[in-house]
Amino acid sequence: MDASGVDRAVEVPGILHLDMDAFFASVEVRDDSTLAGRPVVVGGAGARGVVAAASYPARTRGIRSAMPMATARRLAPDLVIVPPRIDRYRAISAQVMGLLRDVVADIEQISVDEAFLDVRGARRLFGEPEQIATLLRRRIREELALPSSVGGSVSRAVAKIASAHAKPDGQLIVPADRTAAFLAPLPVSVISGIGPKAQAALERLGVRTVGQLREIPPGALTRALGPRAPEVARLAAGSDRTGLGQRVRDKSVGTERTWDEDLTDPAEVRRRITVMADEVARQLRRGGFVARTVVLKLRGPDGATLTRSATLDQPTSSGERLREHVVALWERESGALRRVRLAGVRATHLEPVGSTPQQSELTARSAGWTDLEAAMDRAADRFGTRSLSRGSTLPPRAEEEHRGAPGAGEDGR
Ligand SMILES: [Mg+2]
Repeated sequence: MDASGVDRAVEVPGILHLDMDAFFASVEVRDDSTLAGRPVVVGGAGARGVVAAASYPARTRGIRSAMPMATARRLAPDLVIVPPRIDRYRAISAQVMGLLRDVVADIEQISVDEAFLDVRGARRLFGEPEQIATLLRRRIREELALPSSVGGSVSRAVAKIASAHAKPDGQLIVPADRTAAFLAPLPVSVISGIGPKAQAALERLGVRTVGQLREIPPGALTRALGPRAPEVARLAAGSDRTGLGQRVRDKSVGTERTWDEDLTDPAEVRRRITVMADEVARQLRRGGFVARTVVLKLRGPDGATLTRSATLDQPTSSGERLREHVVALWERESGALRRVRLAGVRATHLEPVGSTPQQSELTARSAGWTDLEAAMDRAADRFGTRSLSRGSTLPPRAEEEHRGAPGAGEDGR
């Protein structure tokens, strides 16, 4: 037993994360057997095309999702480029989720090809998590002819890390008392929410692995990671027990800037807060959250601070939605506030993605769009934020995106 009185050896690692392998590409290969074993990517073939999904033969050539198509072509001259068929992927996604619901009642879909499952209630009928994972993967292979991977843990975050570890076509259930040891050698970037910036801050402390992260004093961790530090420390120690759809209390993500010279042009303020809204949306998606409220903070040269908030009709992690709201808030204030010294955008009232039935439904319906934004996040992480500017590379509406290039993204694995 540990200090909290929990016997970790007998705790059931009953949270599973199931993730389809190279989902869009696997569907294309399944539907056209001549593609088997070849480097296949799904995405736009045009000059600005981006890889939305890559088959494993393409990955062995170094091709990754969110990579520019031109780069992929250079890596594999025999590359097969298939235009995305979003409706097809959605239909098969519904079959996958239906099959999961056959076995497990407690399921939370988080994207077109991923779901968390709480299998603790299914044990009497179907056995231990390891056996349930085997059963789910076998049924998906036999009935839908598609490969998938499963991770399991006492924590949703660790289950997701374990499924990534198990890929392709594998499974890894981490026993409760082995969680810390499993995480120790992994790079800190496996923790959702630790992006390149946080990674660099940790690197300056000599921290590369989760095990090293555990060794540094709480104060230093807070300086490197901000308010997320306690949550990350809990995860690194193997003490996280966050399950399906648990509301995350008192959490928010945000960004703010102070300028040496006041901004006097309303259009310039609008541009800056738009960029901030995108940044906040990215933070939400990295952490696997959606927000119900967005807050705009403004300060003039006299030091008086103004905060205005908007409650969204549906919780979101979409940059598009957040931008709409902060710009609307700004337009209401811009007449009165002539000089802006500080501006900030914050998302509050967060909850994990897909934590309510309506939201799961919404996630499923808008999967093409949110996945596309996720693919852009990865491109931004890899090539710098300037390599993909939404205005110039993407049409404004999800519907248009589904019809045309450059292609929607899926989970990178
Ligand atoms: Mg996937």
